[in-house]
Amino acid sequence: MKESGKYRLPYRNLSLGEHTYSFQLDNAFFAQFQDALIDRGKIDLVVRLTKGHMSGSLQLDHEGLIETTCDRCLKEIELPIEGSMHLLIRHADEAMGEEEDILLVDETTGALDLNEAIYDYVSLSVPMIKSCDQQTPCNSEILDRLRPKQDKMSDTAWDELKNLKL
Ligand SMILES: [Zn+2]
Repeated sequence: MKESGKYRLPYRNLSLGEHTYSFQLDNAFFAQFQDALIDRGKIDLVVRLTKGHMSGSLQLDHEGLIETTCDRCLKEIELPIEGSMHLLIRHADEAMGEEEDILLVDETTGALDLNEAIYDYVSLSVPMIKSCDQQTPCNSEILDRLRPKQDKMSDTAWDELKNLKL
């Protein structure tokens, strides 16, 4: 977690009001996380922190590309992702067990560590099915190789269904 310091905001020392931070998430950022959904990528992230007298909140917006493989043809692709999220800032003693989307201030240092929250929330924006889009069509050679197998399987399944009806 050596990158953590970069994404730690000195919350207690911040003045009241809005503070904006820009980050670029790169391969080194994603490399911190084991069994990661995202291995490599380049993502621009803007964090807008609002600090009030009693409470605070964060607005995170990101946009960029991740490097992954197409689920259909296994080609290496750059997949565009984007998203935004709103988080509430809480102190440990006022956190409720049931609350979601909250980030706790470290009571010892007074800092807000965004490292894992950023990773979690960027991961949420990765689509369930990752595939080539219209600009970069799927590798047809590989699709052709995969297709006959799939057809054969579905034919067998269809035959079984017909047999059941009889
Ligand atoms: Zn593809």
